[in-house]
Amino acid sequence: MKTTIKKRTYQAIYRLLNYITPLTTDCGALCGAACCTSEEEDMIIYLLPGEEKLFTRREDWLIWDYDLAEDYDFPESWFGKVYYVRCKTAPACPREMRPLQCRFFPLAPHLTEDGVLHLIRYPGDLPYVCPLLEKDVRLEPRFVKAVHTVWTHLIRDPLIYDLVEFDSSDRNEEELDYVL
Ligand code: SF4
Ligand code: SF4
Repeated sequence: MKTTIKKRTYQAIYRLLNYITPLTTDCGALCGAACCTSEEEDMIIYLLPGEEKLFTRREDWLIWDYDLAEDYDFPESWFGKVYYVRCKTAPACPREMRPLQCRFFPLAPHLTEDGVLHLIRYPGDLPYVCPLLEKDVRLEPRFVKAVHTVWTHLIRDPLIYDLVEFDSSDRNEEELDYVL
């Protein structure tokens, strides 16, 4: 899929989020890095359109595969390959190469009907327990702000906007846990 997000923009986003994390301490110590190590079959990490450009697809710590957007639950504007990865070495990985999905969690973007971008605590079912969600732990303001800045940039791309809008449209706005 053609995206307007350039490789160097993704690289800048990776740099920004390299060391900005949900807590100032390693939240993985609270749960044994549950979001990395869950052995559920569906524990795959989708990449955003064009994010794969940052990788060679020969990384020895990742298993690569893709879905065809038209065969799965993606926005109508999406077609062709949507890459996803599985970690072979979790919870260890080259920190500076963690996919965006890993860096954003436990936050998710949400677009209101008026097109206003918010961040919410991840609202979906998970095959593991994330203490940050379960205990409603206050997330670092620096992390929240950085993730919001990144999503503000990302949704300028029509495909990514459509994805966030698509995911948001399924939600009951009154039940969401808004962070920003
Ligand atoms: S985001 Fe949640 S599940 Fe993942 S390591 Fe941190 S506390 Fe654990
Ligand atoms: S890439 Fe790193 S942070 Fe993401 S799931 Fe794998 S081990 Fe965890």
